[in-house]
Amino acid sequence: MRLYRIFLLLIFFSSCYTTTQLATTSAVVDITRADAGNAKKARPRNVVLMIGDGMGLNQVSAAMYSTSEPLALERFQTIGIHKSHSADDLITDSAAGATAFACGVKTNNSYLGLDPQGKKHPSLLRQAASKGYKTGLVVSSTIVHATPAAFFAYNTNRNAYDSIAADLPGAKVDFIVGGGKKYFDRRKDDTLNLITQLREQGYLVTDYFEQDYASWTVPDVPRVAFFTADGDPLPVVNGRDYLPKASVDALNFLSRRERKGFFLMIEGSQIDWGGHANDAGYVITEMRDFDRAVRAVLDFAERDGNTLVVITGDHDAGGLTITGGKQGDLECKFSTGKHTGGCIPVYAYGPGSDAFAGFYDNTQIYHKLKKLMLD
Ligand code: MG
Ligand code: ZN
Repeated sequence: MRLYRIFLLLIFFSSCYTTTQLATTSAVVDITRADAGNAKKARPRNVVLMIGDGMGLNQVSAAMYSTSEPLALERFQTIGIHKSHSADDLITDSAAGATAFACGVKTNNSYLGLDPQGKKHPSLLRQAASKGYKTGLVVSSTIVHATPAAFFAYNTNRNAYDSIAADLPGAKVDFIVGGGKKYFDRRKDDTLNLITQLREQGYLVTDYFEQDYASWTVPDVPRVAFFTADGDPLPVVNGRDYLPKASVDALNFLSRRERKGFFLMIEGSQIDWGGHANDAGYVITEMRDFDRAVRAVLDFAERDGNTLVVITGDHDAGGLTITGGKQGDLECKFSTGKHTGGCIPVYAYGPGSDAFAGFYDNTQIYHKLKKLMLD
C-alpha cells in the first residue's frame, strides 16, 4: 500500500515536470517569434513616430558632416530600410508616403487616409485614440499639410486644406502644434469656425499671435492646440525654433495624462522644402532642428524604458548628393526639384524596436507598430 502511494506520487511529479518542461519550451519559442530573438520586453506602452519629410540617407549624411557635433540619429543601433514607392508612382509624394505609415496601405499620390479605390483606412492615431491612448501631432508645416493630415483626414486631394481641416476636430488629437490657423477660422469653402468646434471638443486653443511658442507654458487642460503660424511656419534660418520644445511639451503632456499609453507623431516638415528649393543650407538647418527633437525624444525614451521610438523619412527630396568639400564646408549637388525613388532609412529604439531591422515596404511601419501597440 505504502509503496503504491509513493509510486503514484512519482507519476504525479514526473508528469508535472514534463508539463512544465513543455510549457517552458513553447514559451521560449513564442518569445523568439514575437521578438526576433531579442530578450527585451516587446510591447511598448508609448509610441513616438518621427518623420523627416524628404529625409533620405543623403540628407542625414549632409547634416552629419555639416559640423563635428554628432547627430542624435547616430545613437540608434537598430536600423532598417523602407521602399518608398506609392501605388501609382515609383516616386511617392508625402500624402501617399504618410498614408502608408499612418494607415498601412499603398495609395495614389495626393490621397490621404484612403486606398486607391477610395476606401477609408483609420490611422494608427485614430485607432489608438479609440482604444484609450492619448495622442499628439507636432509639425513644422501647417497641421493640414499632407504628412500630419494622413493621421486624421480622408481626402483624395492633399491640397484641399479647408476640407482637411474640417476632419481635425472629430479626430480628438489631445496635443496639437503646427501652422495653418487660417484654414480653421477664415475659410474659403464655408463660414465654419473650426476653432470654436475645437473648443467645443474641450480644447484650449491658442496661437503665435497670443505668445511665442518659446515662452508658452502648456496649461493643465485635457486638450491643447497651438497654431504656430497663419499659413506655413517659418524656416529655422528665419527664426523658427519651436519643434524641439514642442516635442518635449508633447511628451510631458501626454505622459502625465495617459492611462494606457500614448501615440505621438512628430514631423520635421521642411527638410523636404529645402530639397525642393535645391538649397543645401535649408536642408541641413532643418535636419539639425529635427535632430534636436530626435535627441529630446530619445533621451525621454531612454529614461522611460516603455517608449518605442521609430524615425524615418517618407522619401528623398531634390536628389541631394555630397560631391566634395570637407566636414563643415560641404559641396552638394541636386539632381531634381522633385522627389526621387531611393530607399529610406528607418531608426528604432525601445521595446519592440528589433521588428524594424530589415528591408520592407513603407506600409510595414504601420503594420509593425499596430502589431506591437494595438493588437
Ligand atoms: Mg510633410
Ligand atoms: Zn516634397
